[in-house]
Amino acid sequence: MIPPGKTLGVLGGGQLGRMFAHAAERLGYHIHIYEPSLESPAAEVSAHAVHAPYTDLAALEAFVRGCAAVTYEFENIPVEPLQRIENTGVFRPKWQILEITQNRLREKTWLRKNEFPHVPFAECEANADLAATIRQIGIPCVVKTADFGYDGKGQQKISDEASLAHAVTSFQGQRAVVERWVDFKCELSVLVARSTQGETRSFPVAENIHTKHILDFSLVPARVSAAVQERARALAEAIATRLDLVGLLAVELFLTNREEILVNELAPRPHNSGHWTLDACVTSQFEQHVRAVAGLPLGDVSTTAPATVMVNILGDAWKWSDGQCTGAPDWSALLHEPRVHLHLYGKNEPRLGRKMGHFTVIGNDPEDALERARRLKTAL
Ligand code: AMP
Repeated sequence: MIPPGKTLGVLGGGQLGRMFAHAAERLGYHIHIYEPSLESPAAEVSAHAVHAPYTDLAALEAFVRGCAAVTYEFENIPVEPLQRIENTGVFRPKWQILEITQNRLREKTWLRKNEFPHVPFAECEANADLAATIRQIGIPCVVKTADFGYDGKGQQKISDEASLAHAVTSFQGQRAVVERWVDFKCELSVLVARSTQGETRSFPVAENIHTKHILDFSLVPARVSAAVQERARALAEAIATRLDLVGLLAVELFLTNREEILVNELAPRPHNSGHWTLDACVTSQFEQHVRAVAGLPLGDVSTTAPATVMVNILGDAWKWSDGQCTGAPDWSALLHEPRVHLHLYGKNEPRLGRKMGHFTVIGNDPEDALERARRLKTAL
C-alpha cells in the first residue's frame, strides 16, 4: 500500500493524466508526469514534469526512482525501456499488459488463446497476400494495422472489390489484421478496476455511440437488458483477472444482433467512455485508478443520477475558416443549462478530430438525457 503523501508517476501527459492528477491530489498524492511533448494537459496540473523521449533510459529511470509507483495514461508507450528498468520501481499495471494491449494482433491472439469471445480475424504479414486474407474472412470486413492506431486511425472497411483493391495498395508493407464486419446492435464498454489484493470492481456498463470512429456519446445506463449487462461485467472481470491486472482496464465490446458479446479492444487505463463517472458516480474512474495503483480499498461504483450522457467536444466545435481556426465555441449555452457539467482540457491548439473537452448531461432516463445532449452539441 502506498499511503497518501507519496508520489505517483504517470507515463503520458494527455487529458487522462490530467484528470488522474486531479483525483490523486485530492487524495493527498503528489503527481509526476513523464511526457515527451512540451504541451501537456497533465503536466500543467501536476507537481513535476519530465519532458524526454520514452526511450531515454537515464531520464526514465530517474523518473521511476522518484515515484512510489508508476502508471500510464495511454498504452502506446514502448515497453522495451520499461522492461529494462523494471527492477527500479513499481509499475502498475505491469508492462506485460501494455505489451499485449498496444498491438492489435497480440491482443486478439491473447483473447483467442484465453478463449474470450472476440471478433473473428486473420493475420496478414507485411508482404503477404492481403487480398487472399480478405477473401478468407469474407466481405464485408475491416482491415486494421496490427499496431494500434486509435480512434479508427489505420483502418479501412472493405465492402466491395474496389475497396479491396484500395486496401491492398494502402496497407502494402504493413502487418495487418483482417476482421469480420460485425453488424452490431450497439457498442458497450465496461471499466473494471482490480486491486493489489485481486478484488475486481466494475462501473455500470456504458453504451457508446461513435461517429467517424471517434467516441461521440456514452450513455449510462446502457439501453440493454440486465442479463447483457451482467454478462459484460463478468467478461470484463474475467479478463482483468486473467491479465493479472493491478489498475484499471477498459473493455470495449460489441453486442451483436444475436445478443452475443464480443470483445473489440482493451485499454489498461482510464477511458473516454468512463468520463461520466466524474459527475454521476460516487467514485470516478480516475479516483478508482488511483486507489487501485496505490493499493487502497476500491471505491463505491454506485451511480448518483438516474441517467447520464457524456458528449465529447472535438476541435470541430471551434470556428473554422479556410482551414484556420478563428475562434472558440460559445460555452454559455452549456454553462446556463441545469444539470450539465463542462470539462475542458486546457489544450492550446484545436484541431479537427482532436479531443478538447467533454460535457456531461444528467437526466431522468437515457433517452431524455441523450436528446438534450444531442441538442446541446448541435447548439455548440
Ligand atoms: P477500433 O479502433 O478498432 O475500436 O474501431 C473504432 C470503431 O470502428 C469501433 O468502435 C466500431 O464502431 C467500428 N468498428 C471497428 N471494427 C469493427 C468491426 N469488425 N465491425 C464493425 N464495426 C467495427
